[in-house]
Formats: sequence, structure tokens, C-alpha cells
Amino acid sequence: MTGQMVKLRFYGGVNEIGGNKILLEDKKTRILFDFGQSFTFGAEYFTSWLSPRAINGLKDHFEFGLLPKIRGLYAKEQLAFTNFQYAKPEVDAIFLSHAHFDHVAHICFVDPQIPVYLGVGTKLFLESMEETSGYCDYKEHDYRTFRTGKKIKIDGVVVEPVHVDHSIPAAYGFLIHTSEGTVVYTGDLRMHGARKDLTEEFAERAKECEPDALVCEGTRMVLKEKRKNYSESQVERLSDEIVSSTDKIVFMTHYSRDMDRLRTFYNVAIKNGREIVISPKTACLLCKLIQDEHLDLPDPLGDEHVLVYYKRKKSGTYDDGDYYVWERQFMDKMVTCEFVHENQGKLIMDLDFYQFAELIDIKPSRGSHFIRSMSEPFSEEDIEDKVLHNWLDHFDMQFHQLHASGHLNREQIGSLVTEIDAKKVFPVHTENAYLFKQISKNVQTIESEKEYGI
Ligand SMILES: [Zn+2]
Repeated sequence: MTGQMVKLRFYGGVNEIGGNKILLEDKKTRILFDFGQSFTFGAEYFTSWLSPRAINGLKDHFEFGLLPKIRGLYAKEQLAFTNFQYAKPEVDAIFLSHAHFDHVAHICFVDPQIPVYLGVGTKLFLESMEETSGYCDYKEHDYRTFRTGKKIKIDGVVVEPVHVDHSIPAAYGFLIHTSEGTVVYTGDLRMHGARKDLTEEFAERAKECEPDALVCEGTRMVLKEKRKNYSESQVERLSDEIVSSTDKIVFMTHYSRDMDRLRTFYNVAIKNGREIVISPKTACLLCKLIQDEHLDLPDPLGDEHVLVYYKRKKSGTYDDGDYYVWERQFMDKMVTCEFVHENQGKLIMDLDFYQFAELIDIKPSRGSHFIRSMSEPFSEEDIEDKVLHNWLDHFDMQFHQLHASGHLNREQIGSLVTEIDAKKVFPVHTENAYLFKQISKNVQTIESEKEYGI
């Protein structure tokens, strides 16, 4: 008898990019892979300051069907105000592929008795987010860390995490060995990053398993890509061209957890005899991540090429007491707006859009540069994009768009699916599952919460 015992159910990531929640059942064993928040989460009912009330646990979420009612998954306190009854854990484990919020955010609702398995680096990211952001709280969990190649036995199921390259370090795909065969889950992955070899190794291992099912991400599975994407090495080369041909300051902005990108700009700074200026938050994250020797990142305290920008707060005099405790540890590396103003040609500065007001004090000279090293806006009516350009125009700065995506492009997804050659393919994390059918006849398009055998 085949195809009876092992079932997959997708509670998120179905016809949407992000929000992955994949439940695998093998006889009595139930394992959840990722438990993230979708990007459009609650957008029909909540906007800006109108948001679900934390005090209400899951009540506000259930009101609008924003999270699935899975028995034996949620913490007792989260269900207290709901009419969904608490049950002792009926999910045996949760595995997180990487620390992006569309894969992890909802673990805050999960019963603390359920073990949460995650990469060593992923754990560091979660800790850092909780320490440096005022509102981030994943709550207590029985965390169990892994590294690539480890085999984790959950009853009769063996889960093998294998590293992949993505726009955040410590990203993994999973080989899930069940009683009926192997299920491969890609997580999020790419082939044009700094560590293409990791994704290649994952694909190789997946193929060797002759899997019965492949759950594959398809973020960039689109008919025609409108946005310009480079490889990480192209981003480095093109940034270097900008920096080496100017004596003015170069600002850049990137996704805060994309450490490959930070390293790219660090490299460009060194190559051009410049120093890189980062925020206390980024410095804090680096301090955390260098605990993992595999990540090869600069130490903000020890590296002379790294400076930390302090904006004026409270007293306005850069007094220790003006800053959070976690911010204070880099005060020896402090630079201020005056320093940046006086040393413009010697710096590359990491400046987030929401910190643009600092430009008023920094007073960049005309013709300075700004590199947006993240995705282009999704719509032409994007308000923040308009505001960004107004600021750049106001200070007469030159704008550059240089970004490498965290995901495989359509052609690369095709090669991966063909190479792994699973008997069934389940597209997730995509808006265009139908395009997978052009690659393989084994594609199973999925509906939310429906059960599928492997
Ligand atoms: Zn991701």
C-alpha cells in the first residue's frame, strides 16, 4: 500500500509569495515546516496602526481566518480568549528553514512544549531581532539547533537539513525521509549568490535520494521579469565602479539581514581605501553572528574599517544614557554627523530609508551617490519610492539600483526541478504555480489546507 500514510497539507505559501506553513504527517507523526507570516497578512482588515491586539492572543487572527485552526499547535495563553479549545501538543516538531519573517514570524503563537529545530545561525538571528527591536518577541520555545548534514529523528521520520544559499545566512532546505519515501523541501534558495556551492550541494543530495515529492519555492516563477537583477559579484563590481570613480560619499541601503550584501560593500570599501559606517543595530547583529565561525563576517569592535554611526538622541549630546544598553557597546567606534560630513570621500555609509533625516545633519556635497541595494518597488505608485527620490533630488544625489535577489530565476527553477526529478512536485511561495507545469508533468497544483499524498 503506498500513498496512504504520508500526507502534506499547505496552510500558507499557496498562491502567494511567503507565509510558508507546511504540515507533514507520517502515520501518527506530525511535523510542521516553517510557520511564517504572509506578506499580505490581514491587509483586508488591518492597516498601519490598526492591527491585531497582542493582548487578545489569537482571537483577532481567528476572527478573520488569518491563521489556521490546527489542534495541538498553539500555546494555551494564545487561545485563552478564543473559542478554539486548547489541546496538548499534537505536532511533534517545527523546523525553520531560515530567519526571514515570512518563514518564522508566527512561532510566537506556538505551544512552548513543541520543539523548534533551526540552524545555529538562524537562532542567532532570532535572538538579535528580539534584543534590538522593541516589538519582536518570538516567545519561549524548546529550541534545538542543527547544522547541515545532521540527521534528526522525529519518531519514524528522519529530517536532514542541508544548507542552501539565500539572501540571509544559515538558510536550509530539508530532506525528509518518511516511511514511504523522501520529501524534499527547498526553503528559499538561489544560484547567483556568494555561496552558489551550497545550493549545488543541496540539489545533489536531493537528487541522490530519488525523492517521491519535491516542495519547491517559486518566487521568481514569472512570465517575464520586469525588475533588474544582478548576481552578488556583479553588485560588487558595479558598486566598486561607482565608488572608485568618485571622491564623494557613497550611501547604500540593503535588507538588514542580508549579510552577503553587507560583506559586498565592506569589500568595496576596503578595496577603495574607505571605511564603512553602519548603524548600532547592524553592529549588534554582526557581533551576534560572528559567534558562528562559519559566517566570515567583520567584527565591528575589532575591525578598524568598521565605524558605527550614532544619531543624536534625547539630550542631543551623545551621552551614554541617551542610548539603549545594546547600542552602547560600540561607543568607542562612534562617528557622528559632523565626522561623516568632514570625511565624506573616505566613507561608504549604510543608511536605511527611515533614517534619511540624518542627511539634513550630514549635509552630503552635491553629486554624492546613493545605491539602493534591495528590490525595486513593486508598484509605480509606491509612496516611499517617491519620497526617497524627493530626498535624493533635494540633496542633489545620484541614484543607483543594484540588487541580487535571494531566489532562483525561472530558468534555474526549471533546472533544479528537472535535476531533482521527484515523482511529484508541489510549488509553494509563488503566485504562478501554473508555470511549473511547463517544466514537469509531475506538478501538483495545491489548494490551501487540502490533503495530498506523496
Ligand atoms: Zn527568505
